[in-house]
Amino acid sequence: MCYATVWVRCHQWRLSASRTTLTVPITKDGMGSVTYEYDDETVIVTGGSSGIGRAIALAFGAAGATVINADITPEPKDADATEPTHEAIETDGGTARYVETDVSSRADIESVVEAAREFGGVDVMVNNAGWFTRGDLFSVDEETFDRIHSINTGGVFFGCQAAAADMRDRGEGGVIVNTASISSTHAQADQIPYDSTKGAIKMITQGAAIELAEEDIRVNAVAPGHIATEFGSGAEQKEESVAAGDLVKPIPLDQPGYPSDIAPVVLFLASDQAGYVTGETVYVDGGWQAF
Ligand code: NAD
Repeated sequence: MCYATVWVRCHQWRLSASRTTLTVPITKDGMGSVTYEYDDETVIVTGGSSGIGRAIALAFGAAGATVINADITPEPKDADATEPTHEAIETDGGTARYVETDVSSRADIESVVEAAREFGGVDVMVNNAGWFTRGDLFSVDEETFDRIHSINTGGVFFGCQAAAADMRDRGEGGVIVNTASISSTHAQADQIPYDSTKGAIKMITQGAAIELAEEDIRVNAVAPGHIATEFGSGAEQKEESVAAGDLVKPIPLDQPGYPSDIAPVVLFLASDQAGYVTGETVYVDGGWQAF
């Protein structure tokens, strides 16, 4: 599906490609770099307009993939974003489209998978879109519970279903990467609606990996920790809460994560270098869930 090259480069951790270079700041001396090549691959990223999904979409675009951003809006929420994701990729010389998609609608997801046929069909499906709401057991009403489960859980389940059906019908295999969370395995107060969706995503990932192995489709998940995006509270608030030690437990690496910390892991999971990895949930959380 793609190849990666590795070389040593101190003081920087770089994800680079033919058209552009993404440089990811690191806290310690760099140990090396990986470059991914996704020419001729078509990648759908749900929720690709902002935050983590945007970073994933930009990274795939930089690596040469045709990227389809499937989001309810093309407008980015991120303070540093100057243009919609698909435009940013095209400005850099890549190929990208925006397809308005509400992942809580199975029909919308099927439509965006169908749209990928224009580019040869979806090779990599990144089910990333998500929504957050806070509320204790007694305060969450039926509408809120249904909404978060239809976006987060339904979006991933039907994203897997639609992409896998298309990959199976084309007989070429493929890769699915779902966005889980530290909430997939760690409960926090007032987060039952959200945490239950992320727990489900971990099991959807494992179950789909088993069922789809014979179709040559790998399914994995990335589980972000405390990532500075506009998700739930704002990016600045997340940075401040880490600095203030205001989390239920500290982050061993003592800093929030950034979308650019998540994207390289997704590109790895989608690559041939991860060819023997399926059903796995990879935590990218600065060590938060390790204790
Ligand atoms: P974000 O709010 O920055 O981006 C979410 C994107 O999803 C937005 O572009 C939004 O428009 C889109 N979206 C929302 N509802 C949608 C729908 N119904 N259909 C299609 N698109 C929709 O959030 P983020 O931090 O980038 O989160 C992305 C994923 O990462 C989510 O699944 C989230 O649960 C997960 N995650 C985030 C964190 C964190 O700390 N930020 C931690 C763990 C997991």
